[in-house]
Amino acid sequence: MAQDDLKNIADEIPARSPVEPVELRADSAFQFDCHPGVSCFNACCRNIDITLLPYDIARLKRRAGLTSSQWVARYTLPFPMDAHGMPGLKMATKPGRNECVFLEESGCSVYTDRPSACRYYALGSMGVRPAGGDAVEDIFFVVKEPHCKGHEEPRTATVAEYRREQGLEKYDEMNREWRDIVLKKRSSGPTVGKPSARSLQLFDMCSYDIDSFREFVASEAFAEVFALPAEERAALSDEDKLLLFAARFLKQVLFGEFTIPIKPNARATRLQKRRHRETTPAPEDNTGDNP
Ligand code: SF4
Ligand code: SF4
Repeated sequence: MAQDDLKNIADEIPARSPVEPVELRADSAFQFDCHPGVSCFNACCRNIDITLLPYDIARLKRRAGLTSSQWVARYTLPFPMDAHGMPGLKMATKPGRNECVFLEESGCSVYTDRPSACRYYALGSMGVRPAGGDAVEDIFFVVKEPHCKGHEEPRTATVAEYRREQGLEKYDEMNREWRDIVLKKRSSGPTVGKPSARSLQLFDMCSYDIDSFREFVASEAFAEVFALPAEERAALSDEDKLLLFAARFLKQVLFGEFTIPIKPNARATRLQKRRHRETTPAPEDNTGDNP
């Protein structure tokens, strides 16, 4: 990344921000360690602001044995990610407090499935699209908050080592396409315009409700429009593959990046069906409920 670009990012960081305006790369080393022996253990979980990503939700709802919509209803709070109301989700907190719902006396009760943001802390990561380029680059920063004593621990690791230890490679791989969609939507500004209500609904389902997306992909309505090869369709029984497919589907819906083949007569069939519905009288009510 050019120094000018880095300076532009650094200029946007508030003066008292805990983010250190030093760009780190995969092989950059930084001093930090977190373990149950630190004096601030779990302090970071008592004051959270965690934006959840699709793979976070998939992992946590599987762990809880809930459907994605049940998990989201129970453990998240909605917020708009931009001025167009792109739906985002934050991790819920305990009533009247800013403490994570999953924090217990002994620590994190979902540790092996904790979200990406918890794994990254005390690193910040950011995807940037260099001017004129299409590929998204990852840059990293150290986040130094006063309550976090991990920065005083005598351990140094590179960003790559830290990401590996925290299991972030899988998380980043699973969330990458989705994150690119959000970044692309944000950086394209008014040229893409406000997505329709239907597109926002689809974004919500593809991002946070993988169980409903599975039903949608298995539906007659989907089969009428999309010509998905049988082998590819079968592979979607794996939920991780389905999640990646959901991001691909979103790119097609939001940006017209056509990678899922459409049946040649799809539009005509749908129009024909709609006309049929509009011109066919509703069946008589034979339930006997009416007088
Ligand atoms: S999910 Fe676990 S690690 Fe993350 S904030 Fe909650 S308690 Fe802390
Ligand atoms: S060292 Fe930092 S990350 Fe670890 S428990 Fe303390 S506040 Fe949280």
